[in-house]
This record gives sequence, structure tokens and C-alpha cells, in this order.
Amino acid sequence: MPKKERFTVGWLYPDLMNIYGDRGNILTLVRRAEWRGFDARAIELGRGTTKGMADVDVFFFGGGQDREQALVYQDLLDHKQAPLEEAVEKGATVLAVCGGYQLLGHFYQTAEGERFPGIGLIDVRTEAGKKRFIGDVVVDADVEGLEPKTLVGFENHSGRTFLGAGARPLGRVRLGSGNNGSDGMEGCVQGGVVGTYLHGSLLPKNPQLADYLIRRALSRRGITELAPLDDSAELAAHDRMLLRAQPRAPER
Ligand code: GLN
Repeated sequence: MPKKERFTVGWLYPDLMNIYGDRGNILTLVRRAEWRGFDARAIELGRGTTKGMADVDVFFFGGGQDREQALVYQDLLDHKQAPLEEAVEKGATVLAVCGGYQLLGHFYQTAEGERFPGIGLIDVRTEAGKKRFIGDVVVDADVEGLEPKTLVGFENHSGRTFLGAGARPLGRVRLGSGNNGSDGMEGCVQGGVVGTYLHGSLLPKNPQLADYLIRRALSRRGITELAPLDDSAELAAHDRMLLRAQPRAPER
């Protein structure tokens, strides 16, 4: 029996940056790699450790309130920045949600004006406002080969994120506030890094994005296609969210 190839998901700060079901993204990445015949596993990368980061195919960085971000940003700068940059340079991919997305940028500034420096892996900056953006989100994504082209999820953030020239939006908001409630854009894509405000969790209802991250990480092994899976349950949940996003007919 040929030995199964290893596939590794690296979970940054699982104890502190993990809200609104973000854990579901880890399960989705591991299962979808397993269903393609890989020996798939997730490793936890909490504060103070970088063990195994060089072997990671897809990193996941979840969301967290200002308090949790204050507890992780120094470790990110001191310990994770260099191995993460190297891994991405070598073709690993990253999915970062909300608070994680913000700390991969240049900085996150709280509504009180406290600034947490980020690692600048993506060309974005975030400043919190007084009003939180909360609710369902539907995005028309601008990622090649992504089918369906819509992404659905849930947002809850005070941060307003603005993209620099080095990053492009993940897509256009159809429902919700997205990056900053003003430019109509959501998330960012820069090289192998995808940032977004979509919780939910995101990947169980958007399996096409999970496959995009897996496929892109595997392309360095010469693997460019993934065996199709029966995603009827996942896409039914996706379509349900799209329906929910339809403007309701005015009450008679
Ligand atoms: N604390 C950040 C904000 O409020 C991120 C919140 C989150 O990850 N949900 O914008």
C-alpha cells in the first residue's frame, strides 16, 4: 500500500483567535484534503512556537476581539513573521479572517486609538470606527476559476480596512459592509494570501474557496487538479444564504 502524501494545515493561535465558528475552516480544509487521499492533519501554532511551520500547506488565522489581538500581535512579529513569509514565498497559502486578516496587514488601530502593528504580509491597513458592522454578507468574488462566484458568510467587526496598491479585493459586496462600509469591496487577495471579514464559518458554506486554497498550495507539487466531491449539502447551505440575502418584497 503506497504511503499517503502528507497535507498540513497550520492553525495560528487556535486558543485566542477563534470566534464565530472559525474552527469549521480547519475541519473543512483537513477533510477535503483527506477525501482526496492525503494524510491530512492540522497543527496548532500558538504563542511561542513555530514548530512545523515549514511543512504547512495552508495556514489559517481566525478572528478575535481587540483583547485577543492585543495578546497575539507581539508573538506574530517576534516569532511567526519570518517563517510565515518564507512559507508563503515557497508556495503555501493563507486564509485569514477578520482580526487575523487585520494583523497580517500593516496595523490594526482600535476605536480607542491604540495601534497594534501587523506584519505587512498584505498591503492593507485597518482603523476601527465606533459603529460595528454586523450581519449576513454576500460577495461577488473576483478569483479566477472560483465556481460558484459568490461567497456567503457573516461579519462582525469595528475595523475599516483599506487596500494599498499591492493587494486586490477578494470581491464586491452584494450584501453587507465588507472591508469598510464605503468602497463596496470585501477582503483581499495578495499572492497566496486571502483575507476576508467572512465568519460563519466561511469554508463549509463555500467549499470552492477551500479547494482554491488547497489546489494553489499543491501546485508546487505539480498537482493542479482535485478530484470532484459531492458538495450538494454545502452548496444547498450556500444557496440558502443567497436566498436569505434577497431583498424581501415590501409588506402589503
Ligand atoms: N477586533 C476586530 C474588530 O473589531 C476584529 C473582530 C473579529 O475578528 N471579529 O474589527
